[in-house]
Amino acid sequence: MPTIDKTILITGASSGIGEAAVRELAGTGARLFIGARRTERLEALAQELGDNVAWRALDVTDAADFQAFADAAVERFGQVDALVNNAGVMPLSALAAVKLDEWNRMIDVNVRGVLHGIAAVLPRFVAQGSGHVVNVASVGAHMVMPTAAVYCATKHAVKVITEGLRQEHDEVRTTLISPGVVATELGHDISVPEIADGLLTWRKKSLTPDAIARAIRYAIEQPDGVDVNEIIVRPTAAD
Ligand code: NDP
Repeated sequence: MPTIDKTILITGASSGIGEAAVRELAGTGARLFIGARRTERLEALAQELGDNVAWRALDVTDAADFQAFADAAVERFGQVDALVNNAGVMPLSALAAVKLDEWNRMIDVNVRGVLHGIAAVLPRFVAQGSGHVVNVASVGAHMVMPTAAVYCATKHAVKVITEGLRQEHDEVRTTLISPGVVATELGHDISVPEIADGLLTWRKKSLTPDAIARAIRYAIEQPDGVDVNEIIVRPTAAD
């Protein structure tokens, strides 16, 4: 007997929090359509977890690709009930370094990617009179610190977009999940060695991705009349 009888799209499912969310939700009987660019990882995960998990290559920075991803999920499972916008990147640097390409990549993945996801599912959610958008932001949606101005700006944007969606759509549930430090591959692309080293120190007190996966599951498994709008999950006694 499934505890979640829904079809759920999950982005950034090839590692970290996304992969953990797939593992957590697969145990509920939900049908999962998972995407990322490293398809060999998606394929292995789907193979391990069984027929309720299907995958397709996805680059969230490409709106047409995101629409094709959502359409493929409908073709495979007949419907879409929820979207977990989890894909994200965090190449931290000081503003003075003027790493324009990295700023743009964060905006493209973390902000445009979330909007492309909403664009791909919202008309369907409106037509069917229900749906759920879960956006993975960060504690960086609530604060800023040196080297993280652009990353935090993207996460502030995700917070505001999520709240705007909630206000505009009675039929759509919206959830913002804001993790603190989680031990994942995030930041592997930091191009400033001292900042990359600093991240390792920062991660000494960190959550494992399953902690965030449980928060995502909690939000999704509530009855349709219950909208969990925001969850912040930090390691205990984090700064
Ligand atoms: P990971 O680096 O492990 O996962 C990031 C995922 O995003 C990967 O699956 C990657 O897949 C995917 N991704 C990146 N770019 C694209 C793209 N253009 N199109 C599709 N998928 C893409 O990090 P986390 O699991 O930690 O990150 C997940 C989310 O959690 C992010 O939004 C992050 O900002 C947020 N977060 C993480 C925290 C942490 O401490 N780890 C803290 C707060 C928030 P692929 O490369 O295969 O495409």
